Amino acid sequence: MIPLPLVFDAPKKGMPPQHLADLDPAARRARLAELGEKPFRAEQLSRHYFAGHTREQMTDVSGSLRDKLDDLMPELFTQLRVVDCDEGATKKTLWRAHDGTLVESVLMRYPGRTTVCVSSQAGCGMACPFCATGQGGLTRNLSTAEITDQVVRAGEKVTNVVFMGMGEPLANYNRVVAAVRRMVDPTPHGLGMSQRNIVVSTVGLVPAIKRFTEEGLQVTLALSLHAPDDELRNTLVPVNTRWPVREVLEAAFGYTRRTGRRLSIEYALIRDVNDQPWRADMLAKRLKGKLVHVNLIPLNPTPGSEWDASPKPVEQEFVRRLRDAGVNATVRDTRGREIAGACGQLAALE
Ligand code: SF4
Repeated sequence: MIPLPLVFDAPKKGMPPQHLADLDPAARRARLAELGEKPFRAEQLSRHYFAGHTREQMTDVSGSLRDKLDDLMPELFTQLRVVDCDEGATKKTLWRAHDGTLVESVLMRYPGRTTVCVSSQAGCGMACPFCATGQGGLTRNLSTAEITDQVVRAGEKVTNVVFMGMGEPLANYNRVVAAVRRMVDPTPHGLGMSQRNIVVSTVGLVPAIKRFTEEGLQVTLALSLHAPDDELRNTLVPVNTRWPVREVLEAAFGYTRRTGRRLSIEYALIRDVNDQPWRADMLAKRLKGKLVHVNLIPLNPTPGSEWDASPKPVEQEFVRRLRDAGVNATVRDTRGREIAGACGQLAALE
């Protein structure tokens, strides 16, 4: 792994001031009461926030409450830069948090749906060597409201959210689960999205996957596998030395058994590293008969990396072997490469 210069240099790293979206509905009402306001105002403010209204648009908010908005719903991010590609269908936004921390989110428009890829941490501590985010280390966790805000401030109606931006979502467990609950809450206290349109990814933190299985959620779990054998996976996904492939898959299959949701297996195809036919066969053997879908991702280039995507014929052979063994597999269309907004490329460089 080639270390990159430190990209996060703000002197003080801390969690942002509390925002109403950090709190569940009961706690929001209590917070309003604490400030001498009627508890029902919590619903009113939540409706405005999740609809993405500006202060000017909050016309039914009383004068006394308006004075408290900075306290209740502080501005979490400054939008620093927006770059787009795919004729405007893919848009990457760089956000600066209150302490100078930088994070990125990516919006992707498809026919009939709009997806936001959100970051759950600033940086990442998992150190996967093929990923730009992992090269800078972990700066800090994002708060529930900071995660939700990336969707609220997308500037348009979002139908799908994937937790595949910066960070390992399950390493920021409580805040990520709370953010998912805000996204799927059908009342004015949330975004009312369908659980089936949300994907939470993980590199395989086994205790967290087991805990997540008990949350009663129906979102899709995506496991970033990248290799079917421990020897290689130990180098591609270093956390594998703690929880090996067999254990990780068992935990992830447990999630699908409990929820009935199909497991996504993410596999970045890297030329001459993990794309051999025998590895396709080994992967197929491990997944055969399970409710899974393999997403093969042509490796996206990152600065300083000597790795490259697999050639097309190798990619096609890999897919063919999986399919012949009865395992669902597709090659993912990689959006946002030109703007370093594709999987593994988010580095939040100013
Ligand atoms: S691939 Fe995901 S878990 Fe690994 S370093 Fe990058 S952001 Fe972190």
